[in-house]
Order: sequence, then C-alpha cells, then structure tokens
Amino acid sequence: MTKTIKNNNHLYGGIEGGGTKFVCAVGTGPNDIRAEARFPTTTPEETLAQAVDFFKAQEVNFGKLAGIGFACFGPLDPNPASKTYGHILPTPKPGWSNADVVGILKKSFDIPIAFDTDVNGAALGEWRWGKAQGLKTFIYLTVGTGVGGGAYVEGNLLHGLLHPEMGHITVKHNKETDPFEGICPFHGDCLEGLASGVAIEQRWGQRGGTLPPEHPAWELEADYIAQALANYALTLSPQRIIVGGGVGSLGHLMPKVQKKTRDYINGYIQSPVILENIESYIVSPGLGNRSGMLGAIALAEQAV
Ligand code: ZN
Repeated sequence: MTKTIKNNNHLYGGIEGGGTKFVCAVGTGPNDIRAEARFPTTTPEETLAQAVDFFKAQEVNFGKLAGIGFACFGPLDPNPASKTYGHILPTPKPGWSNADVVGILKKSFDIPIAFDTDVNGAALGEWRWGKAQGLKTFIYLTVGTGVGGGAYVEGNLLHGLLHPEMGHITVKHNKETDPFEGICPFHGDCLEGLASGVAIEQRWGQRGGTLPPEHPAWELEADYIAQALANYALTLSPQRIIVGGGVGSLGHLMPKVQKKTRDYINGYIQSPVILENIESYIVSPGLGNRSGMLGAIALAEQAV
C-alpha cells in the first residue's frame, strides 16, 4: 500500500458495506462529500446494483470517479493474489456466502477498486482524517450490533492470513455473576458473544440504548471491552485505541472502559500514556459515525 497522500482533483467513490445497511458516498474527504446514499443490505446482486446505479448517477453530475473503496462486513478475502479475492467468505448471512462482490463492481467500473474489511476501512479513515493522524500503529474497534477490530501496524493495514477477527477473542467470563451464555454461533461466550449490542439486548431483555448509565449492564460491558483492549495493547502495542460503534461510542461507558483497561494492564506497560493519560490512549473516533464511509474514500485514494 502506498502511503503517499495525494493532492489532486481526483474524485472517489466509497462504499461502507454493513450487515444491515450500505452507505455510498462520492467525494474527496470529510469536508467534501458531494453525494451520499444509504439503503438496506438485501442480496449481494440487488445491493451492489444500487451502489453501481448511485455511482453512475454521480459520474453524470460530477465527472468520472478515479477509484472506488469498498469497506465491507466480513469475513472476506482481501488478498489480491488469492483466487477468491473480493469474495465474501462463508457467513451465516443468507445469500452472501462466497459472493464475488468486487467482481460485481468490476463489471461496471474499469477503475481501481480497493477492498477491505469495514473496520480496517474505518481505521484508515481515522488515520487519514481522524484521531490516528500521524500514528504508525493503532487499533480501531467497533462495538455495535457486532464487535470487530481493524489494525494499522507499522504503517500498513494488517491482513496477515485473512484479516484480524478481534471480536471473537476469548475473555474471562464469570458465569456466577454473568450466567448469560453468549450469542456467538461459533464460540458462544467470545467477546462478541458477550459484549455486542445483540448480547446486551438478549441478556437484559431490552436494547442497550434504553438502559440507563447506572444500570449494572454497563459495568459488565466495560469489563469485557477492557479485557479485550488490554489484550490488544499487550499483543500489538498500539499507540492508541479508537473505540467506535453504537455501544462503544456511549459517553458514560468510555471512562469505565479506560479505567478498567488500565487496571487490567496493571502497570505492566510502562508508558506514560497508559499510566497517566489513559483518556488520550483509549478514545472515541475523530470522525464520529463517519469513520467507515470516509475510510472507504481513503481506501480508494490509496488504490489510485
Ligand atoms: Zn465468536
């Protein structure tokens, strides 16, 4: 991946492909989004056709796109050298297993198309315009309907074998204080199984957004997220951890997560930012809920 920031007149398309909705945008950055559309995620063919129609219409308005960035829900194959590059990998989501989503776009656009996970895209957006500007190594974690993390390591988005699956790590689960079994179809009580928005709703019988800040749900939630963040800090040594998503962005949750993460690390990482300034180590996204969409634009920018 090139890390050059280009300064030109190129116009980019971005797709933030989520499990429930797609967001498409045309522009060059946070202060220059020319058009935006959102529609529900249905079948791959129908959903991508809507994206294609949107971009074709914007090309009539604004001129040809230089490239498209597609930050998509996974699991997916982001390795250009692989036979299944650009495909969604087997997923419980009906109709999407093995769908060649990049192939669908390539039938309509003869321009560079960048493809990565939604969370790697959001990480890149934060690096380009948000709270990770100038950093070499950091993590973007989203805690919403699901839990996922993107990693930027020594100046590159991390893929490795496929891509990180930070939502599915194992956390300590005290079944006496939290008898909830967890909702992950693969692991039961992994992080996503215990701490996703779906898990909160099933455990407490109401949506997280309706639970007041003093509800015991949030101490528990902060504990699971903090265990995960401590593990990521110990594993990848990120310079910062950005926590977004509908649950992760709750203002009352963040201080609990910061304190508990510091408690779990317990002085082992001798860095002032953790020991004395955890508020600047674990932060909300600089781009708010636009990290994913803008990240898709940033992916396009780097592919051109
Ligand atoms: Zn899992």
